[in-house]
Amino acid sequence: MDAYQHILLALDYSAHGDWVAQRAKSVAEKYQAKLSIIHVLDNIPIPDTGYGTVIPLAQDSGYDLLEAEKAKLMQVGEKLGVAQADRWMIWGSPRQEIVQLAEREQVDLIVVGSHGRHGLSLLLGSTANSVLHYARCDVMAIRLLNA
Ligand code: AMP
Repeated sequence: MDAYQHILLALDYSAHGDWVAQRAKSVAEKYQAKLSIIHVLDNIPIPDTGYGTVIPLAQDSGYDLLEAEKAKLMQVGEKLGVAQADRWMIWGSPRQEIVQLAEREQVDLIVVGSHGRHGLSLLLGSTANSVLHYARCDVMAIRLLNA
């Protein structure tokens, strides 16, 4: 199998996020691949700014909730050694934005956490499920037990 060259970690800041991040980092190290991270904003209101949906990380928006989300992304980025240009924060639906960014940035492996849901929530789908179905590249689902 060819080595992965560009790995995208989908980050949701939940309690298990660290575990998923560590797995992504170790796969990136193994393949000496570039590691990018994405956090999709789907839970805070969009302010009336001049931004498009991709949030510039370098400048202060003056919007506290947004700045708090940025700070978390920057902290994880530092911890994982991800270059600033490879940290992405985008408004929208996680399942769509993760797949779209992966295509745009020529990612060859997406890493997501998976709760291993069953019953109704499986029917309704999860981010991991949806990414697995729509991504054009490989997807690694990190099993999250008791999450
Ligand atoms: P869930 O939708 O809760 O099943 O989330 C499963 C996995 O999808 C998480 O472990 C993350 O890898 C990814 N994910 C969920 N929400 C987001 C988000 N807002 N931004 C980026 N990745 C996400």
